[in-house]
Amino acid sequence: MPTVNAYAAPSATDPLVKTTIERREVGEHDVLIEIAYSGICHSDIHTVRGEWGTIAYPQVVGHEIVGTVAAVGSAVSKHSVGDRVGVGCMVNSCGECENCLAGEEQYCLPGNTGTYTGVDRDGTITQGGYSTHIVVVENFVLKVPESIPFEAAAPLLCAGITTYSPLSHWNAGPGKRVAVVGMGGLGHMAVKIAHAMGAEVTVLSQSLSKKDDGLRLGASHYFATSDPATFKELRNHFDLIINTVSAPLDINAYLKLLRLDGALVNVGAPPEPLPIQVFTLFNNRRTFAGSSIGGIRETQEMLDFCAQHGIASEVEVIPADYINEAYERVLSSDVRYRFVIDVATMV
Ligand SMILES: [Zn+2]
Ligand SMILES: [Zn+2]
Repeated sequence: MPTVNAYAAPSATDPLVKTTIERREVGEHDVLIEIAYSGICHSDIHTVRGEWGTIAYPQVVGHEIVGTVAAVGSAVSKHSVGDRVGVGCMVNSCGECENCLAGEEQYCLPGNTGTYTGVDRDGTITQGGYSTHIVVVENFVLKVPESIPFEAAAPLLCAGITTYSPLSHWNAGPGKRVAVVGMGGLGHMAVKIAHAMGAEVTVLSQSLSKKDDGLRLGASHYFATSDPATFKELRNHFDLIINTVSAPLDINAYLKLLRLDGALVNVGAPPEPLPIQVFTLFNNRRTFAGSSIGGIRETQEMLDFCAQHGIASEVEVIPADYINEAYERVLSSDVRYRFVIDVATMV
């Protein structure tokens, strides 16, 4: 089995360290990818620190992966050596349940195989993208359009699809008023994508500190949620609210901002249950919903959409030995808007 360089968490409390891991041999349906860049998602930090449940260590995380195909199995037809490709949050699914058959592999009924901490088909625990190479079954490998710079493409594989999918499903577009709650890794992509879809975009952020960026990225309006006047002024206003914040919010205050048939969709994942006032849903026939990444077909659609509209992530490229410091900066919201590891520094 090929041994490759990686950065792994040795425990829930120790910093990530440089190490080596084994990748499986390239099977007939597999693609070997030489990784160029790997994004840092907040989920990576929750996972390695055991905040989303106990995991086995050492663990390599990272599910915003872009790189070049270095080898393909004998039965691979979708990808060739030299292709620019990407891998997101999942690397396999059952392929047979009704959700997989509908192209919504992220909702695979027996559960999709996560890019890290998942149980792979050979029984091993999947290891993610903070690594020089990865082997993935061809159906879960995306094509990254030439026009998107590699480093700016990496975060599209999680932050991009996580926001594109609900924006598309709830028909963000011309004539629709869309609010994005939170201006972080997910939020900045939601602003760009919703704007490119033709919607009128408003950012609802704790403060106005990122207002200039929000307007530059495509928002028409920017409000501070720390100001109670915001919630009076925007009452019954939005068709769609994408909530990217994982901290608990007064969700009823946001639901009241929805107009007739409006929907509030959570893509941030607060660890605690949220109290919902059902009468707030009665008014205006409002919907409260959740959404998780997107299927493979839709992820490709998102990449092609971003290429067509000339959009990608705003990134800060870092060397691998900066990962631990980057984690602390993500936790203090000190990044505009996504850290991306230059994997060449891992060799
Ligand atoms: Zn992620
Ligand atoms: Zn399935």
